[in-house]
Amino acid sequence: MDLYEYQARELFAKHGVPVIPGTVVETAQAAREAAEKAEGLCVVKAQVKIGGRGKAGGVKLAKTPEEAEAAAEAILGMDIKGHVVSRVMVVPAADIAAEYYFSILLDRSNRRQLAMCSREGGMEIEQLAKERPEALVKRPLGPEGITQEVAEEILTDAGFSSEEIEALADVLVKLWTVYREEDAQLVEVNPLVMCTDETPTALDGKVTLDDNARFRHPEHAELVDQASEDPLEAKAKERGLNYVHLDGEVGIIGNGAGLVMSTLDVVAYAGEAYGVRPANFLDIGGGASAQVMADGLDIILSDPQVKSVFVNVFGGITACDAVAEGIVKALEILGDKAAKPLVVRLDGNAVEAGRDILSRAAHPLVTMVDTMDGGAAKAAELAAQK
Ligand code: ADP
Ligand code: MG
Repeated sequence: MDLYEYQARELFAKHGVPVIPGTVVETAQAAREAAEKAEGLCVVKAQVKIGGRGKAGGVKLAKTPEEAEAAAEAILGMDIKGHVVSRVMVVPAADIAAEYYFSILLDRSNRRQLAMCSREGGMEIEQLAKERPEALVKRPLGPEGITQEVAEEILTDAGFSSEEIEALADVLVKLWTVYREEDAQLVEVNPLVMCTDETPTALDGKVTLDDNARFRHPEHAELVDQASEDPLEAKAKERGLNYVHLDGEVGIIGNGAGLVMSTLDVVAYAGEAYGVRPANFLDIGGGASAQVMADGLDIILSDPQVKSVFVNVFGGITACDAVAEGIVKALEILGDKAAKPLVVRLDGNAVEAGRDILSRAAHPLVTMVDTMDGGAAKAAELAAQK
């Protein structure tokens, strides 16, 4: 989960990273009031989960509350690379002496955390890495993360003076604490600023939290942006289902992530001929109870894009008869909600018994198929007919 700048700053403040507190508002009038309270030079910043706001005109300096109001007026509603601004932060302006870059991220290819640091902050890091790679220090981290000593080494490598190192090392250590304690995958501060009074401050903040660690952080629930989270994915999460919303027409349910992934592939392949694509990933896992099947179907069928559903199950520990019963009961539970054709392919443990149950139920919407390729083709064909 990506956080907004203002949320990242809250986490920074919690762990002692210096930030200038700002006020988040939704109207130009409120921006003016916030600027009145702040007194003096302010910056009005678009709160969207995308970088490059400055360049896009989403960060404006305001000398007076009237200017803050006008700036907010201009920024609210602005479209920044497809993100519409509904909130701005009003924050006192920093007296900037220099802008630096610092980040910690998960480097998957090297299976390490990686710290990156540069004296040349402010601009986009991809650009810096391309144009002046020597100005960007990359330091793979060990399990100890960023200790005082590691911080000093990073800063030395990046060419900071001993006074600067003294002021900044502690900030790097604290940013590591944010990364570790909050279970982040990315903590980026661009720019990390040295003010004219020689105090450092994190002027911008980009944090990505590891969703797989969310169970360890009930307090992160309030960071979830209901508006920007996919409603179907949110519903699936509530029900404990492994669901990813895609943009096609053929709904997919399977057991086991590997089988579901390959089902996506064969549906995408078969769909070529009909101009349809997979609508989702949904792994119902080992226990395909009627309730799990009903929950899964319910979510898939609530997607207006979905025109047909392909249920692809290989009976293992959960035998096909149990899955078939699950499907029959799920259709009962859903009633009129289940108004789209269902293609079912069962194989593996107790396949005969499973097919038997489905044949006897003879549900008008259910088509049974023998093979995965056949099922994909049938589901694609049905989706194209609708
Ligand atoms: P983005 O990275 O999305 O463009 P930033 O928060 O980094 O947004 O802001 C862009 C630039 O605006 C910064 O590099 C900095 O020069 C300036 N800026 C941002 N916040 C402040 C502030 N509080 N005081 C002074 N200048 C600021
Ligand atoms: Mg920035």
